[in-house]
Amino acid sequence: MSATPYPFTKQKKFNTTNTQVRGRFAPSPSGPLHFGSLFAALGSYLHAKSQNGLWFVRIEDIDTTRVQKQAREQILEALTAFGFVWDCDKQTESQLRISDQNCLTQTQRINRYQECFEYLEAQHLLYGCECTRKEIKALGGSYNGQCKNKQLDLQTHPVRIKQVNPLHSYTDLHFGLQEAPEGLSTEDYLIKRRDGLFSYQLAVVVDDIDQGITHVVRGSDIMPLTARQLTLYQQFGMTPPEFFHLPVISGQVGHKLSKQNHATPIDMKNPKPELVKALELLGLPITECSEIERKSCAKILDWAIKTVDFSRLPKGQEILI
Ligand SMILES: [Zn+2]
Repeated sequence: MSATPYPFTKQKKFNTTNTQVRGRFAPSPSGPLHFGSLFAALGSYLHAKSQNGLWFVRIEDIDTTRVQKQAREQILEALTAFGFVWDCDKQTESQLRISDQNCLTQTQRINRYQECFEYLEAQHLLYGCECTRKEIKALGGSYNGQCKNKQLDLQTHPVRIKQVNPLHSYTDLHFGLQEAPEGLSTEDYLIKRRDGLFSYQLAVVVDDIDQGITHVVRGSDIMPLTARQLTLYQQFGMTPPEFFHLPVISGQVGHKLSKQNHATPIDMKNPKPELVKALELLGLPITECSEIERKSCAKILDWAIKTVDFSRLPKGQEILI
């Protein structure tokens, strides 16, 4: 019998023991923050802080091929300039170095992902795949599981996870019932990539479990992947957090601001105008914030924490600016 230990502490199973809201903002250091990421950071911050919760910043640098030198520092500096204060997560504090500035960093946690990977392997949920990109593309979008019974070596191949019991829908706290796109929820997706890196899906779920995140508040562009992530919680035998998706900020219809399309970085030297604009788009009655011209960003955020009402958040999946 396999001696692979169960990689989680059942007692820490959240939603049962964590009564305090625990949220996070998890930027990837692939470039400086832009207005869309500021909006998402504010959404998760106000969601947690307005409920007296904890809010963590996690650096999602698992895809090292996209990491830009300096981006991590720029992101943390920008958050500070805009008045954010993040908490230290006591559950993962022992993994932090002083230079981490209380931010859990994925590339420091490769051994942890390996443990969880080995658990999935021991559950016979993983298999190696030898298909080329070209072959997969020819399958027409989603992978058909053709390597499932080939017993390929997991050390030397990209590794996929079997979708034995996929979830097809879930209830989003903002957008309501969501049907998962069929191909996405049933596809045996890559858990370890061709280049040997663990997938974002594995890292983000393990991180959210280890940090006891109760509410994932993030942009709706990631919403289609939620069912997949929920299935992974099930495969780990863990209760998932609640998901609250925010509209994404777009320059034109269907084109969200992103680092990939070189959205302008937020202005750290003059943060107030963009902060005010983002709060307005979140539905905050900004004209009711007294003496706003004299207030620091931190003071404006204090006001926003007391004032925010998520029922005023726009219901569309996209906000055009
Ligand atoms: Zn294959």
